[in-house]
Amino acid sequence: MAEKFRVFATCDIGPALERLRQRGYYLEIHPAPEAPPKAVIIAKVASGIDGLITTLRDQIDAEVFSAGQGKLRVVSQLAVGFDNINREDANRFKIPFTNTADVLTEATAEFAFFMLGSLARKQWSAEQLTRNNQWGFWHPYLPFLGDEVTGKTIAVIGTGRIGLAVIKKCVGFDMNILCYDPAYQNHAYIRAIAELMELRLARGIQKEKTRIEYVAFEEALRQADFVTIHVPLLRTTESPTPTYHLFNERTLRWMRPSAFLINTSRGPVVDESALAQALREQWIAGAALDVYEKEPLPVDSPLRDPAIEDRCRLFPHFGSAATITRLSPDPDKGMAGRCVQGLIDVLEKNYGGDPKQMPYVVNKEAF
Ligand code: NAD
Repeated sequence: MAEKFRVFATCDIGPALERLRQRGYYLEIHPAPEAPPKAVIIAKVASGIDGLITTLRDQIDAEVFSAGQGKLRVVSQLAVGFDNINREDANRFKIPFTNTADVLTEATAEFAFFMLGSLARKQWSAEQLTRNNQWGFWHPYLPFLGDEVTGKTIAVIGTGRIGLAVIKKCVGFDMNILCYDPAYQNHAYIRAIAELMELRLARGIQKEKTRIEYVAFEEALRQADFVTIHVPLLRTTESPTPTYHLFNERTLRWMRPSAFLINTSRGPVVDESALAQALREQWIAGAALDVYEKEPLPVDSPLRDPAIEDRCRLFPHFGSAATITRLSPDPDKGMAGRCVQGLIDVLEKNYGGDPKQMPYVVNKEAF
C-alpha cells in the first residue's frame, strides 16, 4: 500500500480518480462543476495537501506555491496547455507540474478541421434555414453558397503535435499546406507528407498536384484560404517569439478577404476586438473559435455581434471534449489517466524520484 497522500482536485476528472482511491490516497474533490475561487485552492494547499489536480480554469502562481511550501509536491494539470500555471514561480518553489500532451492531439486536430468545414460550408446557417422553415425552394445559389475545402490552401500556424496532426488530415482533402513555426520545424514529417501527396497523385487518388512547405508568417497568411492556429499562449516575457495577439489588426489584414481563421489554441493569441472588426468590415470571410480572451465568453463580447453571426462560429473550449480523450483512465489514451499518472509518478517517486526523467513533468529545467 502506498503512503496515504492527500490530494485535492479542483474538479471531478472522472473514473481515473478511482486509481488514487485504490492506492489508499485521501482524495478531496471540489464539489461544484464551476472552478473553485483561488482562495479555496490556497486554503487547501495551506492545509497540507501533497498533490493538486488542476484545470486551465485555475490560476496557479507564487501565492499557491508559497501556501504549500514544505508540503505540496506536485501540480497535475488536466490539459496540454499550461498558461494558467506560472512556470517561473513553480521553478522557484521547485514544484514539478505535469500536463497531458499527446492524448488530446488527434481529438483537437479533428475538431479544428470540423470547425473549418462547418464554417466554410455554412452548415450553421444552412441548418438554421431548415429549422426556421425558411427553406422555401431549392435554387442553384440562393440564399447563399459555401466554399469548398477540397483543393484549397491551408496555413498551419505552429507545427507541434496538434499542427502536425491537422496537416495529416488535410492531405485527405487534397489541400496545399503552408507551415509556419519559428521554433520547431519537423522537416522529416513534412517530407513524408510531400511523398504521400506524390503517391496520391501518381495513383490517381487526387487529381491535382499539391505542395507542402515551411514559409514566413506573412506569406502563409497572404496565400492561405484557411489559417488554423496551433500555438501555445506565450506572453512577451516568456518567448522570443511570443504568441500573445499574434493575430492583430496588422496581421489579420494580411489575410485574404475570402479566407477563414480557425482558432483552437488559446484565446489571447487573437486580438478579439480586431477580429470582430475584421469580420464586420469583411477583411476576412469568417472565423471559427473554440477559445477566447476571457472564458466563458462574456455576454457583451464583440464576437456576439448579430451583424457577424453568419460568419463567426463560436464553440465552448471543446477541442479535446471527446469521451475517451477526456476521461479514459488509461494514461496512453485519456487526459484524466495521464493526469493521474503524472501525479503518481511524482508522489511515489517513480523514475528514481527524478522529475527530469518523468515523461509528463513539464518544468524539467527546475530539477
Ligand atoms: P506543441 O507544444 O506540441 O506545439 C506548439 C507549437 O507552436 C510548437 O511547435 C512551437 O514551436 C510553436 N510555436 C511557438 N511559438 C510560435 C509562434 N510565435 N508562431 C508559430 N508557432 C509557434 O503543443 P500542442 O500539443 O500542439 O498544443 C498546442 C496548443 O493548443 C496548446 O498549448 C493549447 O494551448 C492548445 N490546445 C487547445 C485545446 C482545445 O481544447 N481547444 C486542446 C489541446 C490544446
